[in-house]
Amino acid sequence: MLTDTFGRKHNYLRISLTDACNLRCLYCMPNEKMAVTPSSKLMKVDEIVGITKAFVKLGVTKIRLTGGEPLVRNDARQIIQQLSKLPVELTTSTNAVLVNEYIDVFKEANISSVNVSLDSLNADEFFVITKRGDFKKILGNIYLLLANNFKVKVNMVVVKGVNEHAILDFINWTKDFPLDVRFIEFMPFAENKWDRSKVVSYVEMLDVISTCYAFEKLRDEPNDTAKKYQVKNHAGTFAFITTITQPFCSSCNRLRLTADGKMKNCLFSQGETDILGAYRRGEDIKSLIISCLKDKKEALGGNPNFAVTENRSMIKIGG
Ligand code: SF4
Repeated sequence: MLTDTFGRKHNYLRISLTDACNLRCLYCMPNEKMAVTPSSKLMKVDEIVGITKAFVKLGVTKIRLTGGEPLVRNDARQIIQQLSKLPVELTTSTNAVLVNEYIDVFKEANISSVNVSLDSLNADEFFVITKRGDFKKILGNIYLLLANNFKVKVNMVVVKGVNEHAILDFINWTKDFPLDVRFIEFMPFAENKWDRSKVVSYVEMLDVISTCYAFEKLRDEPNDTAKKYQVKNHAGTFAFITTITQPFCSSCNRLRLTADGKMKNCLFSQGETDILGAYRRGEDIKSLIISCLKDKKEALGGNPNFAVTENRSMIKIGG
């Protein structure tokens, strides 16, 4: 089992397949001209599978594919098929633009839960946030996932002055649809112009929701990053990911692998371990993984006040 020096057991690996994306979300991507990593530097299908097998041997039981947008990779289908043969729970995050092309692949791979990023329920506002006009298609694909019995979590990054007024739209959406909406506090990454004044805390969000709805607290699972709630008689639920105002690092079980094969032991870790380079040289990557984990800090990559913002952009980490 992958245990760090604080006794936390790590069984969850998030693998970024690419730092390319078909949207341009303002909190995620530095700017329109961001250089995408050349494919020679990305992990190839067999490398993803080989490296993942090493993590699985060390105790990883849950894998989430991320990006960028994982489904823009031409060989995403193959990667999903190969990883589904491993003894893990496989899930994916997506912006849902291409989901209609992958429903059968997800089913064959026994993927039962899909996380969709969506920051507005208004087409014009969606365009301002993402610089793309795929809103209707995304909405249609979310309903397609529900119609095919996938569990759908909708992740909304709440940024003050940008989209906090949409919180109630998302709550209203849970009335008739069994969606799990998750409001994410805006986090700092390279070049995303974060500052604390743009953060809407989960306490503020709860206050807004309580002006219109009566809700109850639901039980959170161990290692859950989200605090879950439900409005009475609504089909869906809502939750908060409170990384900024109430971090949940004490129960962290997450590791990350970037699309270019670097391991990060925390979303905010400054250091990275070159797993792909070692794998290509035929070296023992299991000991590298263990030693990377040993360096994991107690909380927030050892940067509790977010004073140091040297990190990859979110799109280059994989969320
Ligand atoms: S900030 Fe780092 S340690 Fe804390 S929960 Fe996130 S990944 Fe885990």
